[in-house]
Amino acid sequence: MNYKKIHLAERDMPTHWYNVVADMPNKPLPPLHPGTRQPVGPEDLAPLFPMELIKQEVTAERYVEIPDEIRRIYQLWRPTPLIRATNLEKALDTPAKIYYKYEGVSPSGSHKPNTAVAQAYYNKLEGVKRITTETGAGQWGTALSFACKQFGLECEVYMVRISYDQKPYRKLIMQSFGAQVFPSPSELTEAGRRILQQDPASSGSLGIAISEAIERAAGDPHTKYSLGSVLNHVLMHQTIIGQEAIKQLEYTGDFPDVVIAPLGGGSNFAGIAMPFLRYKLAEGRNVRCVAVEPASCPKLTKGAFKYDFGDTAGYTPLLPMYTLGHNFMPPSIHAGGLRYHGASVICSQLLKDGLMEAVALQQLECFRAGVLFAETEGILPAPEANHAIAQAIREAESAKQEGKARTILFNLCGHGHFDLQAYDDYFAGRLTDHYLTEEQLHANLGEIEVLQPVG
Ligand SMILES: *Cc1c(COP(=O)(O)O)cnc(C)c1O
Repeated sequence: MNYKKIHLAERDMPTHWYNVVADMPNKPLPPLHPGTRQPVGPEDLAPLFPMELIKQEVTAERYVEIPDEIRRIYQLWRPTPLIRATNLEKALDTPAKIYYKYEGVSPSGSHKPNTAVAQAYYNKLEGVKRITTETGAGQWGTALSFACKQFGLECEVYMVRISYDQKPYRKLIMQSFGAQVFPSPSELTEAGRRILQQDPASSGSLGIAISEAIERAAGDPHTKYSLGSVLNHVLMHQTIIGQEAIKQLEYTGDFPDVVIAPLGGGSNFAGIAMPFLRYKLAEGRNVRCVAVEPASCPKLTKGAFKYDFGDTAGYTPLLPMYTLGHNFMPPSIHAGGLRYHGASVICSQLLKDGLMEAVALQQLECFRAGVLFAETEGILPAPEANHAIAQAIREAESAKQEGKARTILFNLCGHGHFDLQAYDDYFAGRLTDHYLTEEQLHANLGEIEVLQPVG
């Protein structure tokens, strides 16, 4: 049968998260303490994270059960639909089948509540009162605000200044979910004050906002910190996406030749791709997993695999990852969720081992793709998601040129209803592509040379 939309019954929602580490041929290298250069232990992370999440961060167990309380909240929007983009296929006149998993039906309009709810739950279980975090475009802050409210936790959000000013509506949703929102850099932390001294007009960055949120959590025993991407446990929580998609595709008899998602830190990519990658790692099945990054922040395609900090101030452990350097300031593009200097340790290792692919795309191509998608499928995508759509279109066009069938699956990780300014800028011709010189790309890599792994 030709399906348009495949809904799973609630009772078919996956019961476990999938941990790809169990099946990786080369396990992720350990995070290092910046002072001692020794692997960080659970006690080093305990001031910031509840112990259950620290355990999940280091576990090599293949499946981790999703607690009932988390599943009950997931039920507000999960399972999410898998949709075949028949109208887009027609517009492209391609022999390829294009499917997308739509995560925009969540309370914050993206995939992020999948981990926010889990993180809030484990914090609550450990008696934590308040969670601090950073947010760029506002997606993560919204997701965590929602999740904290569900469990009666306070939520403090450091929002990158440029987004705080450009996206007032995001701030209002966070406030509606009961969160306190501060523009970052702020005067509330030493990390923020230091940046403001150097540059009072700083428009901020995710790296700076992370430093601020960590500093607050480290200074108060009742407060912990939460990260919306990059870390192993965050990626694992997102695998409910790909596991649902596998069940949904069973109805169609199709299996993807290629799975595509945008990559900021790596969580929505890992979320949809890792359950499929398992078929490759465990059964040798041929499935390509393609992460799409913006050409203005190309850590996977132009960065270096090194130990680097996750934040600007250097509070986090050193992570072995593809990075442009923790002081890299990407040009301001509207896909704010993709403006992060590094990629998750898991994705970095998989890329290094040739088990996944990465491409960097320019923003005009991505917006063109997003508008075609809106015209044909009726959903206005988040600018981040446009990167996946543009790559899916490339794959569909190459299938057409080769005259071959191909099954394409991509993650429509969020809708763009709070990104209308971006579309306004695009339609008015105010957006341009960004071509970074080798000099610009490498300017911030030199200073982390010394931080390469010992031996
Ligand atoms: C946060 C975000 C991203 C990037 O983060 P990942 O961890 O790489 O998924 C991409 N798309 C949307 C809609 C986001 O909100």
